Amino acid sequence: MTAFKKLGLNSEIMKSLDDLGFTEPSPIQEKTIPFILKSENDLIALAQTGTGKTAAFGLPILQKIKANERVLQAIILCPTRELCIQISRDITKLAKYSEGLVVTAVYGGEKIDFQIKALKRGTNIVVGTPGRVHDLIRRKVLKLQAIKWLVLDEADEMLDMGFKDDLDAILTETPKTRQTLLFSATISKSVRLIAKQYMTDAEEIIAGEQNVGAEKVSHEYYIVGARDRFEALKRILDYLPGVYGILFCRTRRETGEVSDKLKQVGYDTDALHGEISQIMRTKIMDRFKRKQIHLLVATDVAARGIDVSDLSHVINYSLPGQDEAYTHRSGRTGRAQKSGVSISILNPRDAGRIKRLESIIGKKFEYKKVPSGEDICQKQIDNFFAEIENTKTEEIGNERYFQEFSERLKKTSKEDLIKYFIANKFSRLASACKNTRDLNAKGKAVNARMGSEDGVGLKINFGRKHGLDIKGVFALINSNRNLKGVEIGKINLMPEYSVFSVEKKRADEVIKYLKGTNFRGKKIDVSKSNMIASYAGKRRGGSGRGFRRKRKEPRKVR
Ligand code: ADP
Ligand code: MG
Repeated sequence: MTAFKKLGLNSEIMKSLDDLGFTEPSPIQEKTIPFILKSENDLIALAQTGTGKTAAFGLPILQKIKANERVLQAIILCPTRELCIQISRDITKLAKYSEGLVVTAVYGGEKIDFQIKALKRGTNIVVGTPGRVHDLIRRKVLKLQAIKWLVLDEADEMLDMGFKDDLDAILTETPKTRQTLLFSATISKSVRLIAKQYMTDAEEIIAGEQNVGAEKVSHEYYIVGARDRFEALKRILDYLPGVYGILFCRTRRETGEVSDKLKQVGYDTDALHGEISQIMRTKIMDRFKRKQIHLLVATDVAARGIDVSDLSHVINYSLPGQDEAYTHRSGRTGRAQKSGVSISILNPRDAGRIKRLESIIGKKFEYKKVPSGEDICQKQIDNFFAEIENTKTEEIGNERYFQEFSERLKKTSKEDLIKYFIANKFSRLASACKNTRDLNAKGKAVNARMGSEDGVGLKINFGRKHGLDIKGVFALINSNRNLKGVEIGKINLMPEYSVFSVEKKRADEVIKYLKGTNFRGKKIDVSKSNMIASYAGKRRGGSGRGFRRKRKEPRKVR
């Protein structure tokens, strides 16, 4: 708690933080709160999804705003209705003890009359989508002349969604003296463009490396032919223990198709996209939050603002159009101190994008093989026995039915019981086992993404202690013009040295061109090493239940 206080926050705000159970500021909060409290300069703040950006701008604004003057002083613009609702809800919570303060959300897809009425009653803070805000300005209901703070939340997303004209119009309505605060998860061309056009001498604050959320996400990918994508998805889901996550599709249509097909074969899933009514959406979200649905099939836009913090997986059924969107997607998992996995099912054509994504994320992606039917069976059987072991059965011995069961099963042999289990628990599985076709795509594109068999391990005389990180390894290779396009495989950073693998046919070149160059003023030494081999095929462990399917009609005992 004192950590927040040190940032300069007052007692009313401390009280609401206490109620919310926020004890420590996140890295981005630590940096932006004192800045906004003290300075009136513009600010670009970058931090991954889920790192508490709302409070990072919300708290200092709440502290500085004059709640006793019922004049609109701060406007927060964000790309979607969902985010709008979420942000206004979050800020209202933060303002619990800021007496008299009013926050109003305005967004499309809802009757404008109510929003007009709310604005006419007077408000201190408006949270809105650009389209609706612009509309309300044209209707002369929303007046921005007294604005002191303009927040552009997920600014790049707003531009990508085509709100440029609305933003232009809104910004000309605000006074020049305003402080513009831009918050984003990625620094893209769009962000640069906004900064250039709407901001002056903006300070830049980045909370990147410290981001625990992103640290906790691991990235995996599969490569399959386009026709096998759905079959591969099913196998991956069957293989994974306890998936609770979002499956991303690129189009509205694809979400519908994939979710329908999954439902047909018994998965508990539903689709979320822009054309679903608000009522339906709320219903679906509610079921998802209560884990009645384990997999939400969604478009990027529809998934914005989904506020569920314990997702185990994000699955990219197709990669997003823009590389930056991958960060947004994968940032939906690995939150709330839990680890998460971002899985991509790729077309051989897309395999090349992994390298770009790796350098954006600063992490290696692990190539995985689509499990065979046999793999899945074995895994589900293991899960079943883990489930038996983990079930608490102590009290059942005293239960009413225990006696009856024991009595009636007396004549049943152990063999018959086992057969019963196999017929019921594994009837569907048995047919899945026969499904042995190898779905993994082969060919050049895949081979280029070599597993360690095709790579050579190289040892370099720099490690974590010297400030080398994964991005650094990429930078060493990529910044050397003789080493353009060299594929980097696994990377293992040690304190004193590091080992990484590169494609076999270029290993000698890498040694030749890296040796003798400098890293932070010290000469690089690099040599072949077989250490990397021991890191190959490292698998993530896992136990517990498989992805839950709706129960099918039990089969008769044979
Ligand atoms: P972002 O905008 O960076 O994606 P949010 O502002 O939506 O992230 O915050 C993500 C989640 O983290 C929210 O549920 C929020 O309530 C919670 N949160 C924010 N700051 C803190 C904090 N200091 N301590 C604990 N939880 C926090
Ligand atoms: Mg946010």
